Amino acid sequence: MIVVTGATGEYGTHVINHLLNKGVAPSDLAALVRNEEKAAGLKEKGIALRKGDYMNYASLVKAFEGVDKLLFVSGSEVETREEQHRNVVNAAKEAGVGHVVYTSFLSNTPLEESAIAFLQETHAKTEKWLKESGLTYTILQNALYMDMIPMFAGENVLESGVIMQPAEQGKSSSVLREDLAEAAAVVLTTEGHENKTYPLANNEAVSYQDIAEAITAASGKKVTYTSPSPEEFKNEMKKYGVPDEYIGMFTAFSVARANGELEVNDDSLEKLLGRKPVTAREFISRVYG
Ligand code: NAP
Repeated sequence: MIVVTGATGEYGTHVINHLLNKGVAPSDLAALVRNEEKAAGLKEKGIALRKGDYMNYASLVKAFEGVDKLLFVSGSEVETREEQHRNVVNAAKEAGVGHVVYTSFLSNTPLEESAIAFLQETHAKTEKWLKESGLTYTILQNALYMDMIPMFAGENVLESGVIMQPAEQGKSSSVLREDLAEAAAVVLTTEGHENKTYPLANNEAVSYQDIAEAITAASGKKVTYTSPSPEEFKNEMKKYGVPDEYIGMFTAFSVARANGELEVNDDSLEKLLGRKPVTAREFISRVYG
């Protein structure tokens, strides 16, 4: 029995679809959900629902009974995520889960020097807890989602003609969320991934300069890239009324990119997929073409 958490989210939905495409029977699959109304589509596919919330330890122990493989999708609530992840690891241990596959995050920089330490810290702790737990684990260090390019470039980039991010010429080895999900489905359905950590990066890293050029080529509208200092960027975003939370997140990711933190050379993803991952240029031509 494979149980997928985060199954009502975007990544989890892709994982479930890839598992079904790979021939996993719906009866051998279950989804951990906290809101059954959001999971109507899963039910229609014949996938059993197990009710559980990362905040509720007892619900997790019950939901993880009889699980051979658990895909543990990292939580989306940054403030409470540490407590949630501790609950998931401890509950998996208590319930005797056979193998935990965890979605971590990819960065090549130690926590103390990371511009995105606020995100990395929970992942680093969860990786450590899993390794110390005695559970069989696989850690999928997912690169930054390529799907977020339109958000970082600005939803109105074709009208403004400018991408503004304090990322200098830093590159990111971003990957399409669906490719990362397919890799998880491969790990869940094939042998030999026990106690391994996979950095899941694209073969080709891109800068915002590359992204601006690719959007120009795809759309036929001239888009340029400008990299202000982080302070100038924050002030500019404030002028446009962007909420502080977003300004902080955008700045941190761009500084991480400028520092080279998000550029990773590794072919684990290509090996798992058995093909090259979708490139940023292909993605951009789909979105802006
Ligand atoms: P998403 O669409 O927001 O899905 C998050 C999933 O986690 C949802 O199914 C959500 O359930 C579930 N969840 C959240 N809190 C929970 C809790 N307390 N108990 C049980 N389930 C809970 O995110 P995504 O795009 O699928 O991405 C999956 C994860 O990757 C995110 O949660 C985040 O940790 C991480 N992430 C990675 C990147 C990257 O660039 N690599 C970017 C963004 C996020 P509900 O449907 O009930 O809300």
